[in-house]
Amino acid sequence: MKGQAPDKGLYMPLRFEPIPLDEIFAFKAMPYSEIAFNVLKRYTRELIPDEKLLQLCHECYDYDVPLEHVRDECYIMRLDQGPTASFKDFAARMMARLMRYFLMEDKSRLVILTATSGDTGSAVAHAFHNVDGMSMVVLFPQKEVSDRQRKQMTTLGGNVSVISVAGKFDDCQAMVKRAFTDPDLATVRFSSANSINIGRLLPQAVYYFYAFARLSKKERGKDRTVVYAVPSGNFGDMMGGLIAWRMGLPVERFVIATNTNDEFPEFMKTGKYHKIEPSRVCISNAMNVGHPSNLARVIDLYGGRMDETGKIDKDPNLEKMRCDMHALSIDDNETRETIRTAYQKHKLMLEPHGAVAWAALDKYLSNIDKPGLVVSIETAHPAKFPEEITRITGTEPVLPPSLQGLDKKKESFLSIGNNYEELKKILASMFKK
Ligand SMILES: *Cc1c(COP(=O)(O)O)cnc(C)c1O
Repeated sequence: MKGQAPDKGLYMPLRFEPIPLDEIFAFKAMPYSEIAFNVLKRYTRELIPDEKLLQLCHECYDYDVPLEHVRDECYIMRLDQGPTASFKDFAARMMARLMRYFLMEDKSRLVILTATSGDTGSAVAHAFHNVDGMSMVVLFPQKEVSDRQRKQMTTLGGNVSVISVAGKFDDCQAMVKRAFTDPDLATVRFSSANSINIGRLLPQAVYYFYAFARLSKKERGKDRTVVYAVPSGNFGDMMGGLIAWRMGLPVERFVIATNTNDEFPEFMKTGKYHKIEPSRVCISNAMNVGHPSNLARVIDLYGGRMDETGKIDKDPNLEKMRCDMHALSIDDNETRETIRTAYQKHKLMLEPHGAVAWAALDKYLSNIDKPGLVVSIETAHPAKFPEEITRITGTEPVLPPSLQGLDKKKESFLSIGNNYEELKKILASMFKK
């Protein structure tokens, strides 16, 4: 229920529960929701009865997870079939249900306060919309979310309040963190829905198991491992993958793809970490993060320690990190070029985030002799970026049912400056007793 630990640190599992390879192969025939149950039950065993968890998994994962063949052993995993057409539905829906389950034992109102760089807000707002006992406040950077992304949040109403901030994503994030620890708001029971919440990370390990189980051919040695390309911003997606790896998934390597917010690729190259302030604006807007919150977790996994400001107190095992992860930065020109050529060459419809991963994967593969199974993750539906995609490919992406009718709904949201006091006033008037 707590997004952040009281000392401003992040929660980590004490241990990663191993799943034997035979069990992973047995996932091949299971629906996604059952795979989710089999992965998550290892962490919830003493907290939630198995039948209940299985029921939550069926409720959350009632949509398709397409694996699209592109060439050779190369696939795209589309995580865009949920209600807000972004991969954030996978985590947000599960976290909302877990919170509702635990709230039933405790009657006080919980306020979910979150900052979004594009897709978190809508996924989380949808997941919590009209859930009893919860209110939802979303902050978004005024100029950095697309019309469609904004409308997915501002047309919900009910227990969902949306605030536009005249600043960047990192400013929104900083305000959220400040509200959590503000003594004047201590009577408000806050929780975060950002990717720092452990309840969001664990569900993001599931689709890595799913893709491997569905695609790997047991009899061929080379196919026993998999390379994943992950488009990364706050590194929650990638942390899910690293957790799956620690749980026994036979991963060969992760290709970690960022846009020109390249603090991580630079760190991997030089061993020096410099956050990017202000973060750079790229067309893959949900990845415009200059200091990824989950980086501290990655550093921890490799034996190091990073504080919340990005200062490294203890160096991680950089050599091991370089062996496990290949990090690349892709700029907007390369992103657009990738969307264009993927469509021309393979009739593959990408959007800016997935294209960053695909471009990085292409570069990585150009130095690999005989690649085995490779899966590039597509994190949003191309129809969320209609102007960009139509301009580049000449074809208008077809709206998924979840996004239809949005343009006609009425929007409502508040606007504030890049100023914490304004936010505080609003929160106090809404929730302080
Ligand atoms: C949030 C988001 C990302 C980045 O995921 P992280 O877990 O923050 O690294 C990538 N693509 C899309 C479409 C997103 O919404």
